[in-house]
Amino acid sequence: MRDIKEFDLKELEKELLSLGLKAFHARQVFSWLYKKGVLDFNYMSDIPKGLRKGLLDKFYTLGFKLLKSLKSEDETQKILLEVKDGSYIEAVTIPAKARVTGCISSQVGCKYRCTFCASGLLGFKRNLTTGEMIEEVIYLKDIASDNRITHLVFMGTGEPMDNYANVIKAIRIINSSAGLNIGARRITVSTCGIIPGIERLSSEGLQLELSVSLHAANDDLRSKLMPVNRKYPLKELIKACKEYSSKTRRQVTFEYILIKGINSSLNDARDLVNLLKDFKLFKINLIPSNYIPEFKFKPADKKDADSFKECLLRNRINVTMRRERGEDINAACGQLRLNYAKN
Ligand code: SAH
Repeated sequence: MRDIKEFDLKELEKELLSLGLKAFHARQVFSWLYKKGVLDFNYMSDIPKGLRKGLLDKFYTLGFKLLKSLKSEDETQKILLEVKDGSYIEAVTIPAKARVTGCISSQVGCKYRCTFCASGLLGFKRNLTTGEMIEEVIYLKDIASDNRITHLVFMGTGEPMDNYANVIKAIRIINSSAGLNIGARRITVSTCGIIPGIERLSSEGLQLELSVSLHAANDDLRSKLMPVNRKYPLKELIKACKEYSSKTRRQVTFEYILIKGINSSLNDARDLVNLLKDFKLFKINLIPSNYIPEFKFKPADKKDADSFKECLLRNRINVTMRRERGEDINAACGQLRLNYAKN
């Protein structure tokens, strides 16, 4: 049995032809799965019954078990899913005004061991498949009001650039008009700074949003917080981001969590201004860090966070401060999975 969501439209046409169906049946299957949200071949009424049986024998549409669904007071909703091999993954919906952002995982666990992030605590297990990432979106649509996900971010567990081929294939299916039809500009790939991934992404011909988890503006501190910085240090990372923005004409977003006593002083803010001084197309998203009991880090005080932001504003940097969402349901990266895998 194969996961039907592994196939893009062209591949499915070929596959169905080889099974004695017609190429146009692939478009019908796509429409049931991705437009009408019908995931049972038995109900795909414009496909002749005999052929539906053929599909049932060869493919499955869904492979997850929904283990837990938690809703925050602020409407953020997080789900814990068990995938086919028994691993746990998490995905989140974050409603805000006219949009509903889906946040999905790209791997089971993570290799990168950033010191503030819960995702790497249990180590890395494996890459998620294209079909599994699409399935996360299907589950998120199911819990979203009006079954609508308008924006998608690869900010759940895992490093998307480390699972590049599967992530890009999932994005192409999610983005395609025959598929889930979420615009490329509404899809964000977030990376801890894997330079070859950023370079590849800039050549895909897709207008994706690139988000880079920066969190420190000098190499000493960044290498301490994010060991990946030893391999891909700041100067080269920023150069790759500049190239991404000039090639795609898209603004790059730098994520910067503000951790008390670590990276949130005025000196740190000045370092950040300096690091980005001749970069044009970017913005900074400041995040009050989530408190994770496993780590000693605490969120910066509001006063320090505000002065940090003021310093960037004075230097005409486009900066936003993300509101904390879903804290009451452990919505920070990897927290829910961590709690379950421990118990
Ligand atoms: N590996 C990718 C995507 C997953 S992490 C990346 O590094 O970008 C998604 C975002 O959550 C990153 O910006 C990450 O740095 C941030 N994050 C991790 N732990 C956090 C915490 N404790 N509080 C706030 N943000 C956190």
